[in-house]
Amino acid sequence: MSELAVVFGGSRGIGRAVSQLLAARGYRVAVVSRNLEAAQAAMATLPGAGHVALHCDVSKEQEVQEVFQSIQKTCGSLQYLINAAGINRDRLLLRTGQEDMVSVLHTNLLGPMLTCRAALRNMLTRQSGAIVNIGSVVGQKGNAGQCVYSASKAGLEGFTRSLAKEVASRNIRVNLLAPGFIRTDMTAGLQEEVLCGGVALGRFGEPEEVARAVLFLLQAPYVTGQVLLVDGGLRLAT
Ligand code: NAP
Repeated sequence: MSELAVVFGGSRGIGRAVSQLLAARGYRVAVVSRNLEAAQAAMATLPGAGHVALHCDVSKEQEVQEVFQSIQKTCGSLQYLINAAGINRDRLLLRTGQEDMVSVLHTNLLGPMLTCRAALRNMLTRQSGAIVNIGSVVGQKGNAGQCVYSASKAGLEGFTRSLAKEVASRNIRVNLLAPGFIRTDMTAGLQEEVLCGGVALGRFGEPEEVARAVLFLLQAPYVTGQVLLVDGGLRLAT
């Protein structure tokens, strides 16, 4: 049976493109998001067989536990975990309420902690596996109006490096991919013509371009604890 990849946030955007590429390369994919219908619709477009679609809110411990139990039961062991679920609530800190702070931190930072912990229980038994967390270039360079979001992504970097050290001896690799501006629902409201002036390559990226880098990290046997920027050179400008 082909190897299984679990993609949180697989219903849309970057996670959906990752699911497509992995399925095209012969992996089985578990597409996970809060909206089950959207996850099912994304799954229905995947090439190959053996895929599943599941509901889970990554910020809820109970739901994360249950979704991994369900995956184990229906699909067996997992080899790969991709944490692409994420939200933003961009506004100046002075205008950000605690509810939004908690939502962003719980989805973008607590969520991957919960999914990694659950996946590791399975990977440790097999003594193999690879995890890719999706961070953001903003986690490194900061951005006005994105204090909470950038904090969540900077935290995810520290988490990724530490976890990589914890599990390397068990042949499990953990890396972080930090995208710049990628054309998805998350960036739909942004003025691309204005913003791409700061991008060395002069354009927004496509989800499929991020997916190719995720595949690289999943398959690179001697790479762990790293941050790979997929930002068209945005970081170079700051
Ligand atoms: P997107 O198009 O808005 O998709 C977000 C995905 O996350 C959806 O599948 C969504 O599905 C899922 N999701 C959101 N909250 C969730 C939760 N609590 N539990 C489970 N699933 C949840 O966003 P995207 O642009 O693909 O972003 C993917 C990741 O890349 C995020 O972590 C984002 O921060 C990061 N990123 C994006 C960009 C960019 O320019 N697009 C740049 C840097 C980093 P449901 O709504 O159905 O749950």
